[in-house]
Amino acid sequence: MNYNKKSVEDIDVAGKKVLVRCDFNVPVKDGVITDDKRIVGAMKTIEYLVAQGAKVILCSHMGRPHNVLDAELKLDKKEKKKIAELPAEEQEAATAAALEKGKKDITKLSLKIVADDLTKKGIPVTLAADVIGPDAQAKAAALKNGEVMLLENVRFHAAEEKNDPDFAKALASLAEIYVNDAFGTAHRAHGSTAGVADYLPAVCGYLIQKEIDVMGKALEDPKRPFVAILGGAKVSDKIGVIQNLIEKVDTLIIGGGMAYTFFRAFGNSIGTSLCEEDKLDLARELVEKARAKGVNFLLPVDNVIAREYKEDSTFMRIYSDSIPDGWMGLDIGEKTQELYSKSICGAGTVVWNGPMGVSEWENFAGGTRAVAKAVAESGAISIIGGGDSAAAVEQLGYADKMTHISTGGGASLEFLEGIELPGIACLLDK
Ligand code: ADP
Ligand code: MG
Repeated sequence: MNYNKKSVEDIDVAGKKVLVRCDFNVPVKDGVITDDKRIVGAMKTIEYLVAQGAKVILCSHMGRPHNVLDAELKLDKKEKKKIAELPAEEQEAATAAALEKGKKDITKLSLKIVADDLTKKGIPVTLAADVIGPDAQAKAAALKNGEVMLLENVRFHAAEEKNDPDFAKALASLAEIYVNDAFGTAHRAHGSTAGVADYLPAVCGYLIQKEIDVMGKALEDPKRPFVAILGGAKVSDKIGVIQNLIEKVDTLIIGGGMAYTFFRAFGNSIGTSLCEEDKLDLARELVEKARAKGVNFLLPVDNVIAREYKEDSTFMRIYSDSIPDGWMGLDIGEKTQELYSKSICGAGTVVWNGPMGVSEWENFAGGTRAVAKAVAESGAISIIGGGDSAAAVEQLGYADKMTHISTGGGASLEFLEGIELPGIACLLDK
C-alpha cells in the first residue's frame, strides 16, 4: 500500500469548487451534539480551504438513516424481514408505518445540527436541502470564493453505500476537486468516500494525512524497538492485526480477554475467562511464528480475577498465570504491568490496540492505566488505534501525551492489518 498521497497543499484550490468528505457522524442526544470532537477535527482542512479562497462543499453521513431521497423509499433488510413474518393482512400497514418512520429520519438525521454547530464555531455554513438534487446544485453553483456549504446526509441515498457510479458522478459534478478527510469511513468503498474520485482529482485533508503519515511510517519504517500492544476482548477480532504486526515488530505484548485463548492453547487453566476454542491452533501458530521470527512475545504472568462478569463482582489478584475454577481473568496483574511497562519504556515506536482488561470498570482498569502511563512516558512515537482503546486513553487522561490517536475504529484496524483502504487508495499519489 502506498501511503504517500497528495494533500490539499499539493493542489491549487483557489477559486475552485472543492468537495470535502468529512466525518460529521457525531453523537446527538435530544437534539444536542454530545461530543463535537469530529467537527473540531474537520475544521483545520475547512479553514485552510477557506483561506485559500476555495468554494467549499462539505458532505458526510450521519447514522444509519432510511434511504429517503431515493426515487422509492427502501426499507432495510431487518425491517423487511420483520414485516415478512407478520400475518399477510398486517403487512401493508406495517410497510406504510415503516416508510413513515423513514421519512422522519430526514429531520432526525439531518446534518442541519452540524451546519449550525460549524456556524457557531466561526465557519458560516449553509445547508442544502438535498445531496445531489436541485437545491445542492443551485447552492453549489452560486458559491463564492471562501464560502462554505454542506450537503445533506449522503446516506439518505441507498446509492451512497452501494457506491453506485451514477450517484458518485452526480456528486462529483458539483465540484472540481475532491478532498477526502473522513478516515473513519476510509475502509468503505462508498460513493462519497471513494467512488467520486473516479471523476475528480482527489487528495486528502489534514486528518487523513496525519493518519497515513504517522501510521504508515510506523508500518513501513518504524523507529525501533517497535512494540505492539494488543488487547481487547477477542483474538478473532485482531487476527489480521497480529499477523501483520508480527512481521514488523520487535516485541508483541498481549493483554485483555484474548490472552486467555493463548493461555488455554498452552494448557493453562483459565476458569471461566473468555476463550475462543476454535482459535487454539491459531494461537499456537502465532506464538510459533513469533518465536521463529525472533519476536519477543509477552503474555500476562499474573491476573486480576473475578467471580462474575460484573462491575462490582468479588475480585482478587493472583500471582499466577493459572486461573482457578469458577473465576475469570478481567485484567492483567501488577507483575505483568511492571513487565509490560519495562518493555514499553525503551520503545522507539508503540502501536496499541485493545485495552488490557475491562477498563470500563474501575476494579479492572489498572492494567490499562499502567500501560497507558508507560506509553505516555516512554518518549516513543505512540499510536493508539481502535475505538475502545482511544476512549480508555482519553478517559484516563493520557490523550495529549500520545503522538497519534486514530480517529477511525474499524478503519484503523484495517490499516494496521495492512489492508488497502479504498478511501485512501483512490487518492492521487505524490
Ligand atoms: P478496540 O475498540 O480498542 O479495538 P476491542 O473492542 O477489541 O478494543 O476491546 C475492548 C473490549 O474488550 C472492552 O469492552 C473490554 O471490556 C473488553 N475486554 C478487555 N479485557 C477483557 C477481559 N479480560 N474479559 C472480557 N472482556 C475484556
Ligand atoms: Mg471496540
